[in-house]
Amino acid sequence: MIGANIDKIKQETGENVKLVAVSKTKPVELIMEAYNAGQLVFGENKVQEMTEKYELLPKDIEWHLIGHLQTNKVKYIAPFVHLIHSVDSLKLLNEIEKQAQKSNRVISVLLQVFIANEETKFGLDETELNDLINYVNANTEQYKHVKITGLMGMASNTENETQIRNEFKKLKTIFEKLQTSNFKLQTLSMGMSHDYKIAAEEGSTMIRVGSLIFGER
Ligand SMILES: *Cc1c(COP(=O)(O)O)cnc(C)c1O
Repeated sequence: MIGANIDKIKQETGENVKLVAVSKTKPVELIMEAYNAGQLVFGENKVQEMTEKYELLPKDIEWHLIGHLQTNKVKYIAPFVHLIHSVDSLKLLNEIEKQAQKSNRVISVLLQVFIANEETKFGLDETELNDLINYVNANTEQYKHVKITGLMGMASNTENETQIRNEFKKLKTIFEKLQTSNFKLQTLSMGMSHDYKIAAEEGSTMIRVGSLIFGER
């Protein structure tokens, strides 16, 4: 069933949208079911849970950290994480640079942008985003082990499709504006179980889907 769920989502969104299967709270047995169906990209929102699953599961899995990340926990995932979706401060970016250097790696990250009409979602506003990017562009020699490859955003948790669509449009516009800066941004991570179709229509290149694949949490 998990494999069929994955196939359906992939068919609906097409080849240009990468699917991150969000496996938070789900046991390794279910992750293996998805893995055996050909899914190699998984997302977790807690450092400890991701690290435990990394230890137990096949090493060709790409692990994506999608949740809020505390600076003091970066060291646990730096040796293996494939992409961090949730960078929302210079302090966090600096810690990732430091820990990536210790692990002799270059870690790709997305900057999380606040697009929702809610107080609860993390992320940078547009001014903070531009400040951070300008700072990194002006100090590239300090950032040899971290690579900003795109943006991530979460739309409001609402039934109002127009609002969700407008929030994704806003992020897409910001993403396009940044294409003229020094970064070659490839990844626009937006869309979850309830809004991935809208996100794909609005130019998402990466969706993060959990409950629609593995069942409700
Ligand atoms: C949990 C989570 C998802 C997946 O949510 P579903 O509604 O289960 O698809 C996507 N992105 C982030 C940041 C999450 O925390």
